[in-house]
Amino acid sequence: MKGKKIVVVEDEEDIRELIEYHLQREGFAVIGVEDGERGLLTIERELPDLVLLDLMLPGIDGLEICRELRNREKTKHISVLMVTAKTEEADVVLGLGLGADDYIQKPFRPRELVARVKSAIRRREFAEEEPSKVLKRGPLEIDLVKHRTTMLSGPDGEREELKLTATEFELLHVLARRPGRVFDREELMEMSRGESGVALDRVIDAHIRSIRKKLGEQRGLIETVRSVGYRFTERP
Ligand code: CA
Repeated sequence: MKGKKIVVVEDEEDIRELIEYHLQREGFAVIGVEDGERGLLTIERELPDLVLLDLMLPGIDGLEICRELRNREKTKHISVLMVTAKTEEADVVLGLGLGADDYIQKPFRPRELVARVKSAIRRREFAEEEPSKVLKRGPLEIDLVKHRTTMLSGPDGEREELKLTATEFELLHVLARRPGRVFDREELMEMSRGESGVALDRVIDAHIRSIRKKLGEQRGLIETVRSVGYRFTERP
């Protein structure tokens, strides 16, 4: 996530600074803007990975910005997370209809904001990849439609099915989709469960151990990257 760029459009200075502070601490490059017009210009110039958009803004409001972003070729892939007051519930529904990815209500806990930002960025990264029905990686074939994983088991091309649990299947899929990319445990938790912060690091470790056991001689396909997480490698 480090170095990902985020534009924060928020007219209340206290809130904008709070958001900036917490996102910068996570390694994001953050640009704060206080009104809608400049917000739109800044987004078009910077083409950030994500926009945090306050709904009620002077000038162009958050909904209008969202609509504009989705209408323009250059900006339509950018993640949009709306920040709203509780009274703006109806607008939120409208905003999601206009293509916002998610929303968070004021007052929010900084930790929750950070988690929502990270998962919005990841979801979009994954959504943009070519959907493929069968993922082939070395000796493995992961069938995403049948939720079935098979592994080469003999010299004549025999295959055996790996009996993976639903979570193990998701984890293996996440890792195998991007060979070489290191995933930390938090990412694996989020992407395999679709939400953040519930499972524990050691639960992920236990799942990985179990997958490796089932991989048997091919256990080296999943590498441990010390003090970071795991990665899939095609050269065990
Ligand atoms: Ca506002």
